[in-house]
Amino acid sequence: MSKPGTERGQRRAPPRRPRPAARDSGRSSARAAKPSPARPLRDGSTDPLALLERARAAGGLEVPGLSIRLARAFGFCQGVKRAVELAFAAADLPPQPEAASSAVRTAARSRGAAPPGAGEPRLFVTGEIIHNPAINAGLRAAGITPLPVSRRSGRLSGVRPEDQVIIPAFGIEVAEERVLREIGCQLTDTTCGWVRRVWKAAAEFSAAGLTIVIHGRADHEETRATASRVRGPWLIVRDAAEAEVLAEAVRLRDQSGWRRFRGSRSPAFDRERDLERLGLVNQTTMLDRETQQIGRILRAALTERHGAAPDSGTFRALATFCTATQRRQDAVRTLLATGDLQRLIVVGGFRSSNTAHLARLGGERVRTYHVEDADCLVSRTWIRHLVPGAEQPARTRGWFPEAPRVIGVTAGASTPDTETGRILARLLELHHQADGGRPRPPRGSGRVRGGGR
Ligand code: SF4
Repeated sequence: MSKPGTERGQRRAPPRRPRPAARDSGRSSARAAKPSPARPLRDGSTDPLALLERARAAGGLEVPGLSIRLARAFGFCQGVKRAVELAFAAADLPPQPEAASSAVRTAARSRGAAPPGAGEPRLFVTGEIIHNPAINAGLRAAGITPLPVSRRSGRLSGVRPEDQVIIPAFGIEVAEERVLREIGCQLTDTTCGWVRRVWKAAAEFSAAGLTIVIHGRADHEETRATASRVRGPWLIVRDAAEAEVLAEAVRLRDQSGWRRFRGSRSPAFDRERDLERLGLVNQTTMLDRETQQIGRILRAALTERHGAAPDSGTFRALATFCTATQRRQDAVRTLLATGDLQRLIVVGGFRSSNTAHLARLGGERVRTYHVEDADCLVSRTWIRHLVPGAEQPARTRGWFPEAPRVIGVTAGASTPDTETGRILARLLELHHQADGGRPRPPRGSGRVRGGGR
């Protein structure tokens, strides 16, 4: 995995280089699945990070009537950590991504975050630096302005040569990168090396004459950046169901579902010509098992079309997950294998793809709730969470299990440890509340559901 770099412009001093990230919290947090007993903790009075470190060391927390099991790998990956550190450094904030959600707000308040005057350099980010609302809000407060999200040309028109623009870990589309280079602004490129690996594989397959199939979300920054780098035809499939629709077109049979790819294929795509030879890559954060399934679906379709199993000139596939994604998915499987979990809490932004996949995995075996932060654990009665595949969060009642409680906790690769620690503190707080206490009314938008998954 290549290291992301910072390009320095001609007019500004280079930003302070942050210290290299100490570790991937996932790799270093490998622990036994069963937590060792812990002393009872006072409700809500524990520092979230200290609480999390204590749980990390023991694999979880044990208090009478409640067992919290922590996944062996969770939270910030190296790529996210580095992106946040570089963004912090660009905004002259101390590199403390582990405590980001609170530290960045404090630092922003103390420095005033006054808007730059006319002609002064400004600091932009081309989108969300990562899909975590706490980090993004903090960086906005620190004076880093997200550029408009619209993909129409012109969203970069306000950037001036004296400005600094941060490219997030997902990368950006190649045409936009070209525009920024032409403007001559200073670029801080935090594109993750694992994302560049996908670009490389897609370019190689395309150069070999294959049509690139990307298993990913068509609206995700990383997938759009990958597609933009493919010289030949390309197409995006979201899941195995869409791959089945594509397979029908590969077999030159039922074409009725083809319209669904209207916004997720290259211009002038020719179904007959461009589906003869395929190369499969995936967005780094997809579900590993599903990419493999899609590979089998496409291989079978090509076999039928050509009357023989495809050789490397007709079909190639490279699993382009990053190891952080793989470790976090494996850790959830290990957690589920203990067999006695009553609930699984998955912490991460509602727009975070890797977090959503952890929740999908969990939901196959146990009632699982994807929450954005500790406020989502509204009360013992109510929880605000994202149901897999939904666009908006829902409110569900009756989520908190009866004692003795066994609750698993994990977090996506863009979730700071502070948020996960707050979840632990909130679970302890709810556990210690007297049974029958009046719950807070639910807040926020979303449907009300009568039960969890
Ligand atoms: S999730 Fe994977 S690809 Fe994304 S930033 Fe982290 S290591 Fe890189």
